[in-house]
Amino acid sequence: MTAVRNAIAVAVAAVIGLGSPVLAADAYARSYTVSRGETLGGIAHRFGCSTDALRRANKLSGDMIRIGQRLDIPERCESGAEASGSAVVHTVLPGDTLAGIAARYGDSVDGLKSRNRKVIGNKNMLRIGQKLRVVPTKAVQPPRKIRYKIESGDTLGAIAERYDLTVSDIKRMNPKKDPRRLRVGDSIDLWIEGPVVRSAAIGRPQHGELVNGQQLPSGRSWYRRRPERSWGTNETIALLSDAFDAVQRKHPSAHDIAVGDISAKTGGRLAGHKSHQSGRDVDIGFYFARQPKTGPKAFLDATRHPLDYEATWELLTTLAGPSPDKSRVEYMFIGYAVQKKLYDWAKKQGVSQRKLDWMFQYPRGSRAMRGVIRHEPGHNNHIHVRFKCPKGDNKCL
Ligand SMILES: [Zn+2]
Repeated sequence: MTAVRNAIAVAVAAVIGLGSPVLAADAYARSYTVSRGETLGGIAHRFGCSTDALRRANKLSGDMIRIGQRLDIPERCESGAEASGSAVVHTVLPGDTLAGIAARYGDSVDGLKSRNRKVIGNKNMLRIGQKLRVVPTKAVQPPRKIRYKIESGDTLGAIAERYDLTVSDIKRMNPKKDPRRLRVGDSIDLWIEGPVVRSAAIGRPQHGELVNGQQLPSGRSWYRRRPERSWGTNETIALLSDAFDAVQRKHPSAHDIAVGDISAKTGGRLAGHKSHQSGRDVDIGFYFARQPKTGPKAFLDATRHPLDYEATWELLTTLAGPSPDKSRVEYMFIGYAVQKKLYDWAKKQGVSQRKLDWMFQYPRGSRAMRGVIRHEPGHNNHIHVRFKCPKGDNKCL
């Protein structure tokens, strides 16, 4: 490693190939500048458009687009921006396996095979650069390539950290390059995940807006009660879908969880709520011992229906995070009577008093300003989770 560090030396990264959305001051303008490696279909998918609609809006006769070209993204498209059942294209990366790709998107290996028979053949051979049709059931974006130019002072470790990769990821992504021989001015390819257009929570949950929000896709482990009100920040969507998936992985018998309102597409006032304006609030049902007939479509009263305590506790602790300083959650509102049930159960399971005190307001009174979980009237049939402001959202209050 030392050799690598010495050979590659830090400074500024020249990043090319990133999509460059053109955002007006109000950030609602929908014009998009094509960058290297992008296809019309890929851009259409990103904005939830059909390729046809995008072609029509830009008076294109075919699929030819060029770098730097500006495309108008029709507003009409975006209401259809649901990942539900629609395929995305994944470009095979060095080290990819069918099982790995399936796991990453929440797709199935069999589904991948049958959908991509023509590309991978009967032997299921993957080759770098192949384009596979994947049907995601998770909020995950296909990785995109950036070309990183090594500058004086760079280390592989520092580059990896900056892009949330590991050094071995970088080696895997550049199989033909010897990391010990990289010199200033050389380029390496990095495949990174994450939204091209980052969301922003603006203002307060009770008086705010959501810019470039992301819609919770339809998923395997959750049920969206109102997809048109399922828009949140990138962080909200990632934390939720990860938490629901984690619960179902550890408790395979848990039923799909009911997800109520998050925010409207651009935030702002949402009928029936005081908050839910900036993509940081979400209403979630409870897990029940046996899925009631009306579930998961309805929110059901947890003082009347027997809870699946294991699964509910898993959800609450996953959302709360490993410790107070690492938690991305500001509050979870749950009625005091339901808090008591959960608290008593957790205590019986041997959860430490310290953790109980951090998690619950109970038994300190329904007005105590303590615990992540607080009482609010009307919250016996759902959990209202408020996430902290995403890091970097400096207009978020
Ligand atoms: Zn709520």
